[in-house]
Amino acid sequence: MQIIRDAQALNEAVAGLREGGRTIAFVPTMGALHEGHMALILEARTRADAVVASIFVNPTQFGPNEDLDAYPRREAADAAMLEKEGVAILWAPDAATMYPEGPAATIEASAIGDDLDGAARPGHFDGVATVVARLFDQVKPDFALFGEKDYQQLAVIRQMVRDFELAVEIVGVPTQRDADGLALSSRNAYLSDDERLAARTLPRALGEAAQAIAEGADVAEALDKARARLEGAGFEAIDYIDLRDAQTLVPMTLLDRPARLLAAAKIGRTRLIDNLPVERAQN
Ligand code: AMP
Repeated sequence: MQIIRDAQALNEAVAGLREGGRTIAFVPTMGALHEGHMALILEARTRADAVVASIFVNPTQFGPNEDLDAYPRREAADAAMLEKEGVAILWAPDAATMYPEGPAATIEASAIGDDLDGAARPGHFDGVATVVARLFDQVKPDFALFGEKDYQQLAVIRQMVRDFELAVEIVGVPTQRDADGLALSSRNAYLSDDERLAARTLPRALGEAAQAIAEGADVAEALDKARARLEGAGFEAIDYIDLRDAQTLVPMTLLDRPARLLAAAKIGRTRLIDNLPVERAQN
């Protein structure tokens, strides 16, 4: 595996990979890799001839009071994991390489990025769209893989690809979870033992609400119940828990088409997000 930090070197390496019409699948990450990221790498291998991964902790998607400086960084361990799974190139630029002109040209995320995490984290999805567009430009992938764990991010990127008619196919990969149901996340490392125990309530409350709604329960009531359960477990701030159209993410009060139940809540100082599909139960 080549570890590349320089844009010109990346250009040459990507051109080499593409020789003879070989295809590239790309997995962008912020590092501190876990089995959730590795599921994307494994899926990438099935899609294309070569896999390129990136590690870049993108400052423009962090708010002023967020965890940019504290975000876990362990590139050597990450590189070993990627190499073991046959990744051809690890693209690991620094901020000056990614933004040589500073934050000059930015992309504004579509309206899909306005609420939910976009409301809780103003500017977040503009930062995501901007860095992903730059990464696509640098890596020129045929496929790019993103986790359903960050469902709104996946929807924002799919919309950006449609809006700009980018020649890349976006592949969503199901959320990988610990044995107790908690979605794997680099931020789980911030949780104390007690918080880690309480955090299990997030997927459980979501799972119960999703099942109740699928079986015909009143949406508002099911969401209220889930909210109460999270508060009871010690979640201090619930940014949102809401039922949305699975594609457009517009709010839904009735389950009349495929939906997604999404939540974000803080436990201690750690903000967790999760989501589940909701479709009417067949009977
Ligand atoms: P991050 O490093 O957090 O920016 O994540 C990089 C990619 O991995 C994103 O597409 C995430 O959605 C995806 N990802 C993170 N955690 C998981 C997980 N538990 N299951 C599936 N994909 C994940």
